[in-house]
Amino acid sequence: MKKNRKMPCILLAGAIAMGTFAPAVKVPAAETAAVSAQGEAVGLDESWTWASNSQIHDGAAVLYRCGGSLDAPGRKNLTVCVNAGHGTSTGPDYQTLSHPDGTPKVTGGTNAEGMIYSTAISSGTVFLDGTSEASANLMTAMALKEKLLQDGYDVLMIRESDDVRLDNIARTVIANNCADIHVAIHFDSTQSDKGVFFCSVPDDASYRQMEPVASHWQEHMALGQALIQGLSGQGLALFGDGTLQMDLTQTSYSTIPSVDIELGDTASDHSAEACGRYAQGLKEGIDLFFRSRAGE
Ligand SMILES: [Zn+2]
Repeated sequence: MKKNRKMPCILLAGAIAMGTFAPAVKVPAAETAAVSAQGEAVGLDESWTWASNSQIHDGAAVLYRCGGSLDAPGRKNLTVCVNAGHGTSTGPDYQTLSHPDGTPKVTGGTNAEGMIYSTAISSGTVFLDGTSEASANLMTAMALKEKLLQDGYDVLMIRESDDVRLDNIARTVIANNCADIHVAIHFDSTQSDKGVFFCSVPDDASYRQMEPVASHWQEHMALGQALIQGLSGQGLALFGDGTLQMDLTQTSYSTIPSVDIELGDTASDHSAEACGRYAQGLKEGIDLFFRSRAGE
């Protein structure tokens, strides 16, 4: 399939020095000599498709190159966008178009079915012990980043701190233009330790005929299934068959394989050890996805 991922990303290298976003967390050098300690800030280019639908985009993601350069040995030339869900403090104050074409949502979720506008980015749920979902998402994302870089992937980190000024549309449009796949990490708001699932593309004819969903929904599903397989391999229980149909802003705007993965809910283990296990399962699922796409 022809890809458009070679479009140059906007690199705002000066943004780190200017303090416009939190500095990237340094990778422990001892065990990961191949890992770049410093990434490049990637802001939203307002010329990108649907960028103008974003309400919050004065922050930046950070792109890490495996080995720190384009010609590092072992580099796969594959970029994974790791999106720790939530973590934009004023997100709930803004609304964005649920679908690029202005049609209403076909399922409920954080925002109700039928809504033309959705919360730009919600604050997420809270675990039964009071821990925020956003912080567990971030812990898992940071662990996944390390595992991916160590294995030759480049990684686009949407956030590495508690608060980044990027709403769901900004995150998705940056991923569309600067990554090969987009994995958003979440936990659900129920209280039953329900197990792992991904938000699958709703089986709704109008939704699946709407661009860019029409051109990409099958690859979203393939990525979701691969992640579920990787997580299952870590011994994690599934919720049902590992899918729950959900009309998400992320899915509605994605032009690369893109999944919201839910690692459990507010009763699930979110210790550092557990988040490491989730990250390992996600990493193995990502490997599976690329291997099957390459026909291996
Ligand atoms: Zn969430």
